[in-house]
Amino acid sequence: MKDNTEIKQYYPICEEIITAARRLHQKNMLAAADGNISCRVTGNKVLITPSGVSKAFMTPEEMALVSLDNKTLQGKPSSEKIMHLEVYRLCPEAKAVVHAHPPTAIAWTVARPELAFLPSHAVSEVILACGDIPFVPYARPGTQAMGDNLKQFLPQHRALILSRHGALTWGESLDEAWMGMERIEHSSEILWKAHVLGGLTFLPDEEVLALKAIRQRIGDRLL
Ligand SMILES: [Zn+2]
Repeated sequence: MKDNTEIKQYYPICEEIITAARRLHQKNMLAAADGNISCRVTGNKVLITPSGVSKAFMTPEEMALVSLDNKTLQGKPSSEKIMHLEVYRLCPEAKAVVHAHPPTAIAWTVARPELAFLPSHAVSEVILACGDIPFVPYARPGTQAMGDNLKQFLPQHRALILSRHGALTWGESLDEAWMGMERIEHSSEILWKAHVLGGLTFLPDEEVLALKAIRQRIGDRLL
């Protein structure tokens, strides 16, 4: 068994990751062993949840440590680490990445594969809090394509829906990343309910432009 002295110093961060996972699990965005959460702990090292365990009920001892060039330093990291590492490589500001399986967001990509973005121009809050949320083309789980497909959307998007799979958010803090995930699913639910209740309607173009201008002044952070 590998010595875990190095990872021990990161136990407080591990606890924060597990707390974030519990929140997402309670909100039905993590079933069984789904999803993964990571934090960049040094310029070249990333703490990431392990594969095959429930992230809401794991212990800090189970956490894995990987290098940016995809070497496992400790533990059994998720095969979806490819996506996390791509974000850290392309987004110097990224400190945390959250990947979950929010059901309504995924359902949008299954029902409406022709869309490039979540149709969020119906709701001011979404435009102000995170801007457009793109649908990333489908990639088979565990493959290099998962990371490659993200490239065209980084670093400009921090909230992304992965077609027929899940969603990914990143931030300058763990809070920013998990709250962004909450935002994706909440917005997807509002739009789904509007669709069921009578159909989507959208804000006028000039209002969308005005909201986008405010968003630009706010900056890139997910709110
Ligand atoms: Zn996944």
